[in-house]
Amino acid sequence: MADTGFAFRVLARDGGARRGEMRTPHGVVQTPAFMPVGTQGAVKGVTHRDLEDLGDGLGAEIILGNTYHLYLRPGDALIARAGGLHRFIGWNRPILTDSGGYQVFSLAERRRISEDGAEFRSHLDGSLHLLTPERATDIQAQLGSDIAMVLDECIATPAPDDAARVAMERSVRWAARARARWQRITDDPASVSGVVATNPGQVQFGIIQGGVHPGLRTESVQATVALGFEAYAIGGLSVGEPPDVTYDVVAHTAPQVPEDRPRYLMGSGMPDDLVECVARGIDLFDCVLPTRNARNGQLFTRSGPISIKNARYAEDASPPDPDCRCYTCRHFSRAYLRHLFVSGEMAAATLNTVHNLHFYLDTLRSIREAIMLGTFEKLRSEFHQTFSRRSQLNA
Ligand SMILES: [Zn+2]
Repeated sequence: MADTGFAFRVLARDGGARRGEMRTPHGVVQTPAFMPVGTQGAVKGVTHRDLEDLGDGLGAEIILGNTYHLYLRPGDALIARAGGLHRFIGWNRPILTDSGGYQVFSLAERRRISEDGAEFRSHLDGSLHLLTPERATDIQAQLGSDIAMVLDECIATPAPDDAARVAMERSVRWAARARARWQRITDDPASVSGVVATNPGQVQFGIIQGGVHPGLRTESVQATVALGFEAYAIGGLSVGEPPDVTYDVVAHTAPQVPEDRPRYLMGSGMPDDLVECVARGIDLFDCVLPTRNARNGQLFTRSGPISIKNARYAEDASPPDPDCRCYTCRHFSRAYLRHLFVSGEMAAATLNTVHNLHFYLDTLRSIREAIMLGTFEKLRSEFHQTFSRRSQLNA
């Protein structure tokens, strides 16, 4: 490992679940951890103040930023001139940035993939851009996130074996190019002209691909681990396959990643996915569900999601989740939150997001505590007894 100040250690194990600590230049992250998604340098619906202190806030220790969006607007050069992403957005805790690949691959007709990289048209003004493994590394160096991700090729599921193999092998070649670029920037920041690295402690995570094919996943782990990243992510899951398939791929892949490195499951998922994937050895999660669903009026509770816009809550004086200690649940009723939502008040998005993020972060806090106490299996079975994926519309 390069001397970046990055470190990870496992503090306790309970079955396959791990309780750990991840050290970054902007602070320590207790794992397993959930990273709220701050797409354009803000977590939609809330301020950093809501996210920060545990006293009356959410106690988020790390957030995720989207390279695609920040690159297009306001631009990584502008952010570098402002001193890097932390300073630009006023968030002094750890930040992970994705590579931009996922958004580019989602553009469908507006992108073209070659060995060199992904050519795409901006969703903002139609301008043409080329995202290569090197460029994705440079942009993230300018943003100065604590953790950068390599550019990988994402494919839709279900993909035939051939397509999954081609994408996996290309992702490995791209990972090697991204790692070489990161190494060059880390060793000698002045060696890449036009790039101002704003965080000398930035590390880079590799990404395991291979779709739902165990053999391809194993090949991807071996080739990617050989490149020597600080940690490894499992990509290409939660893209439409059934949850059991996701869990099987995670159970197959996670144990093959070196024990002393964090394991990050990208883009998953529902609260029960978090519990099940912690059981299979995952340390880091991110997902837009708690924030996006909050803006659509869906609140996660210990018994499952509820749709706050439903007329049945019009005179319901109870909090969204009677067992929740978040700001929203301590002060407001379902009736008031329904009123705010149907009236289109901005506070609806804020209060719903505070609750949903609290639910996710608090679930992870309980998980961490249970692993330390050796009671994770008890938590896991109790969680499934009460939590139902189905919206409680008619409950
Ligand atoms: Zn709450």
